Amino acid sequence: MTHPAKRQIGILGGTFDPPHLGHLAMATTADSALSLDEMIFMVANDPWQKSGDRDVTPATIRLEMARALVTHHKEFIVDDREIRRGGVTYTLDTLLELQREYLDAEFFLIVGADTASRFHTWHRYLEVLALSTLVIVNRTNATPTLAPEVAAANVVHLSMTPIDVSSTQIRNSVATGQSVDAFTSLEVRDVISSHHLYESVSL
Ligand code: ATP
Repeated sequence: MTHPAKRQIGILGGTFDPPHLGHLAMATTADSALSLDEMIFMVANDPWQKSGDRDVTPATIRLEMARALVTHHKEFIVDDREIRRGGVTYTLDTLLELQREYLDAEFFLIVGADTASRFHTWHRYLEVLALSTLVIVNRTNATPTLAPEVAAANVVHLSMTPIDVSSTQIRNSVATGQSVDAFTSLEVRDVISSHHLYESVSL
């Protein structure tokens, strides 16, 4: 008797303040390399590692921007469960919830190389690693340095042509009146201007 294959679920978690073409490229890379059944953009409610440093845009607006980014990518899903759950966002809680919902699935946590290098600072990261496969996508041509416990886990490295863009760079560009056309989609730019985001940003 053959058993149906487990569903392969990709999760790209982020602050998405704002989402950009780097996020789209990493999702596309992971989707095709891993033949994912679902590719989920997971918008953090309160990204505790970032919210101490600056005023993060309200979660509902970041959700609106994430939905705008995937307008022309019907294969991608934007999930608002972390916002509905409220409070500080821990990926472990999200994985435990997803595990209860998707009874027979395998989870792939897709992160950029910078995030991978800091992965050992995540809340209960060993449990996160036990519940998912960490998929690391390069941001530059450099190879990330991983903490030993992370390197020893179930990790997949994916390589893509580096996309030199970050949300920080977009916030800075908007604040200084420079174009962000090359960094994010028209739909995201429309949300940025309609809410007057980043115009007087604390960088
Ligand atoms: P910020 O500049 O505000 O720190 P960011 O551009 O890193 O933001 P996040 O929403 O924090 O965007 O990123 C979500 C995930 O996407 C992280 O794992 C991050 O490493 C990854 N990522 C972001 N930009 C890129 C990129 N250009 N190439 C590859 N991975 C990326």
